[in-house]
Amino acid sequence: MVEDMKGKIRVFCRIRPMSRAEAAQGGAIAVGRLDDYSVTVETSRGPREFQFDRVFSGESSQEDVFQDTNRLIQSAIDGFNVCIFAYGQTGSGKTFTMVGDRDQRSPGIMPRAFNAVFDILQENATKFDFKVSVYMLELYNDRLQDLFVSGAEAQSRRVEIKRNRKGLVFAQGAETKEASSAGELFAMFQQACANRHNAATKMNVESSRSHLIIGIMVETRNLTNGSVSFGKLSLVDLAGSERAAKTGAKDDQLKEANSINKSLSALGDVISALSSDLPHIPYRNSKLTQIMQDSLGGNAKTLMVVNVSPSECNLDETLTSLIYATRVK
Ligand code: ADP
Ligand code: MG
Repeated sequence: MVEDMKGKIRVFCRIRPMSRAEAAQGGAIAVGRLDDYSVTVETSRGPREFQFDRVFSGESSQEDVFQDTNRLIQSAIDGFNVCIFAYGQTGSGKTFTMVGDRDQRSPGIMPRAFNAVFDILQENATKFDFKVSVYMLELYNDRLQDLFVSGAEAQSRRVEIKRNRKGLVFAQGAETKEASSAGELFAMFQQACANRHNAATKMNVESSRSHLIIGIMVETRNLTNGSVSFGKLSLVDLAGSERAAKTGAKDDQLKEANSINKSLSALGDVISALSSDLPHIPYRNSKLTQIMQDSLGGNAKTLMVVNVSPSECNLDETLTSLIYATRVK
C-alpha cells in the first residue's frame, strides 16, 4: 500500500460477485474492475471510469482485502488514530467486508483486525506493556446505543459523545471494556452483535439501517524508557446509503432514511472538506461525524471501502456510491 498516508484518506473499491437474485433478474454485468486502480461502469451514456487507491473484484478474497489494511493496524499500535469504514447501498457487501459472512468462514476486516492487534502486541511483549479497551456502539435515528448492554437497560442509557483533553472521542454513558486477547475481543463483538440484532428485531427494524461503530483504544508503555503512546482503531459498518425514501415509505421509514441521508452526507462533507484542505471542517453537523472526528483528519489515517454491486439492476445506486467516494480525492 501507499507508504505515508498520514492525514490522508485512502479509498478502496470492492465489487462483489453477482448475487443469485441479480442473476435471476437477468441483469447484465455493468460494473467491472479494469485494473488494480480503476473501475469501469457501463452507463446509458457510454462507459465511465473511476479511479481508486485499490480496486477489488468479486474474485478478491477477504485475505486480499485485509493484506492492504494490515499496516494500518500497526499504525494504531504506534499511536495513530486509524479509521476503516465501509460505504455502500444495502446488499453491496459492507458487512461482508467489515464483519464477514454469517458463520465466520470468511471473516472480514473486524475479526482480522482483532487478531492483528493482539498478534502485534504479543510479538512485542518483551518491549511494551499494553492495555486494550473497546467500546461498541450503534447509531440509529441519531440515537447512540451501547451494544454492551441489552434490553431495558440499553433503552434507558443516555450515551453522549465527548472528547477528552487530547481530542480523543469517547462515549459517555457507554461501557468501555478491557480486552486481554483477540478471543476475548471477538467474544465481546459477538455479544454486541447479538444485542444489536435483538434490539433491531424488537423494534422491527433492519440492522442495515443503523451504523455500527467500534472503537479500540491501544495504550502501550515502553518498558525501557517508560514512554507511553496511545492509538485508536475505529471500525465502522455504515448504514445502507440507498435513497430509501421510495414511494410508499411510511413515517418511520422516512425518519430513518432522512437520518441516514443526513449523517452520510455530513460524512461526505467532512471528507471532502478535508481533501480540499478547507480551514473549517464541519464535524458538528451529525453525530456520526462527531464520533468519527478523532479518526478523520489531523494525524488520523482513514480508509474508506466503497462497496458496489456489479449488476446493471443496481446501476443508479452504484454510480451514486462511486461519485460519493471520488469526492474524497
Ligand atoms: P451490506 O452489508 O452492504 O448490506 P452484505 O455484506 O450483507 O451487504 O452482503 C449482501 C450479500 O452478499 C450477503 O449474503 C453477503 O454474504 C454477500 N456478499 C457480499 N460481498 C461478497 C463477496 N465479496 N463475496 C461473496 N459474497 C459476498
Ligand atoms: Mg450490512
